[in-house]
Amino acid sequence: MGHHQPHEESGLAADVKKATGVVAEKCYQCGKCSAGCPVADEMDLPPSLVMRMLQTNQPENDEKILRSKTIWLCLTCEMCIARCPMSIDIPKVMDFLREKSRTEKKISSNANDIVAFHDSFLLSVEKTGKLYELGLIAAYKLKTFHLMQDVAIAPAMIQKGKLHFIPEMVKDRGNLSSIFSKTIKKK
Ligand code: SF4
Ligand code: SF4
Repeated sequence: MGHHQPHEESGLAADVKKATGVVAEKCYQCGKCSAGCPVADEMDLPPSLVMRMLQTNQPENDEKILRSKTIWLCLTCEMCIARCPMSIDIPKVMDFLREKSRTEKKISSNANDIVAFHDSFLLSVEKTGKLYELGLIAAYKLKTFHLMQDVAIAPAMIQKGKLHFIPEMVKDRGNLSSIFSKTIKKK
């Protein structure tokens, strides 16, 4: 018998495809998503690298993705989709990866603060897309404590019709701080 391994639809890329319809193979590594991602510098794996790693279909890469900080840092801002020549829905992929990471108990310990923030938002308010985004922005700040960095990130998203509520939140720093302290106390 020869070495005729059937092309199995297994591994993380196959799971992504099944759950989101996103075909990682379509990514040709132009790098535009990572270049335009507002939090790429904070990520351990830039979004284009996540796509590349999915393509390799290596269990160790699947593992690294599920244990990455990246999946929790994604702001769902859709900047990458807008720039991607293949219109690859990376935030949808990230959303699925977060869910899978949680289910498989593979959440990075480096992402604890961010995940705590996710949870407090999801528990305390109805899960709407907008609040989810706000939670992630806030989590990003929680990690860095550079509140003013939002001001640099927010305008591009506001321009794109995202996060239009952020200016009020940023103006009202007292409000923001109280959200932070509540979250920190919960830990
Ligand atoms: S949706 Fe996520 S990966 Fe895409 S640009 Fe925004 S933060 Fe980066
Ligand atoms: S922009 Fe699209 S094609 Fe280019 S690297 Fe990112 S996901 Fe791949």
